[in-house]
Amino acid sequence: MKSSKKFTSIRQQVYLLLKEMTKIIWDLLNFLPAGMIAASLSYVYRRCGKTTCKCTKGEKHGPYPSIQINVKNKKTIKMIKKNDVDEIEKKVTQYKEYQDGLAKMNKLYKKIHKLLQEARDENLEECP
Ligand SMILES: [Zn+2]
Repeated sequence: MKSSKKFTSIRQQVYLLLKEMTKIIWDLLNFLPAGMIAASLSYVYRRCGKTTCKCTKGEKHGPYPSIQINVKNKKTIKMIKKNDVDEIEKKVTQYKEYQDGLAKMNKLYKKIHKLLQEARDENLEECP
């Protein structure tokens, strides 16, 4: 096996990427015990249904906390209690951060894959 300058540089890059990847993996696994909710928090305004209420003229009631969840690729809004907002917001944020971590992992994996291909090409020999 040749040990060109380029190959040495690839090894160093892969080493650093793996280190970064390992950190992300452990961060992700440490997230799990806190719990996550796959949703986004939003506030909605509603009409109450009384014909004499100001809400019929556009001044709707609210804001009421709710979460948007995807059920079978369909957006659904679920109302939540005000007392649960902080807890749910925390879990929604953790889900988002987990997803971000997975996306970072994917980018790192692609970089490593590309470097390994370069390393292979660097060491390819002609058929004798
Ligand atoms: Zn009303």
